[in-house]
Amino acid sequence: MGITRGFVGAVGHTPLIRLDHLSELTGCEILGKAEFMNPGGSVKDRAALGILQAAEASGALQPGGTVVEGTAGNTGIGLAHLCNARGYRCVIVIPDTQSAEKIGLLRSLGAEVRTVPAVPYRDPENYVHLSGRIAAGIPGAIWANQFDNLANRQAHHDTTGPEIWEQCAGQLDAWVAATGTGGTYAGVAMYLKTCSRTIRCVLADPHGSALFSWATGGGLSSEGSSITEGIGNSRVTANLEGAPIDDAVRVDDQTAIDVLYDLLWYEGLFMGGSVGINVAAAVETARRLGPGHRIVTVLCDGGDRYRSRLWDRSWLESRELRQPVRSDRPSVA
Ligand code: PMP
Repeated sequence: MGITRGFVGAVGHTPLIRLDHLSELTGCEILGKAEFMNPGGSVKDRAALGILQAAEASGALQPGGTVVEGTAGNTGIGLAHLCNARGYRCVIVIPDTQSAEKIGLLRSLGAEVRTVPAVPYRDPENYVHLSGRIAAGIPGAIWANQFDNLANRQAHHDTTGPEIWEQCAGQLDAWVAATGTGGTYAGVAMYLKTCSRTIRCVLADPHGSALFSWATGGGLSSEGSSITEGIGNSRVTANLEGAPIDDAVRVDDQTAIDVLYDLLWYEGLFMGGSVGINVAAAVETARRLGPGHRIVTVLCDGGDRYRSRLWDRSWLESRELRQPVRSDRPSVA
């Protein structure tokens, strides 16, 4: 790789990491797309860039304009970096249930941050609706609208999907990912199906989300809750609508935590909560497919953003979760 141009030029082209221990233990090759290595630290840099580029191309976003978004954190972090790089004002609305690390980082990056109580999507005070109203009230502002703005999944269709296909040299059997907006899952799934109809696309879902039930034909209903951030949904977004789904896996929080600690101790990877869901679902997909298959999932962001939560024993205990004890082999297998 040669010289890249600014923050924008550094987005994407992430490594595809073979998870050696889990690959050995399952007999499948489990690969993680290292999206935590994007310059803003998460998979959402791609969506944020795609959304800004589409708004610039349509003329909706003019020099000196404002970008407003409701976000669980990572899209806002990507947007805050990009707004600095491109000379825009950035206004972020975030539920106050998200980690202090992400909220603090947004402020450090110079975004104007409004924390709001977490209320369901059907409530007009939900952070997504509120961000739309704030954008409508600011002259020259755009609403990024990541959940229903198809520039989000298009970015993954045009970049993440082709990178995975190329890195695998066309040899892969399954794509597994959890969805928040659905941009990553759907964009990659749609691209990969144009390469090969036989690639299995598997939707991973935490408890408390309605998507597992929806994907397995049970309608939109949910049970329980999850400590993971940025994934799961109570509705089918425009970005998820029409995406191919061949199978779905629901993962509980304790399994995700066990996987996260395994990834740190045995692979050296310090990851965020959604990665625990994704990799656990990839392991389950390996079990369902049997040995000899190649499975790709996504390493969405790093563990640093959740040090006071996922990596803190007393916080885990306050949620009735157990901090794993190190043994001589991964616990998930
Ligand atoms: N993991 C994390 C940590 C995220 O912040 C997000 C984005 N909300 C996702 C996974 C899911 O990505 P997408 O919005 O593309 O479905």
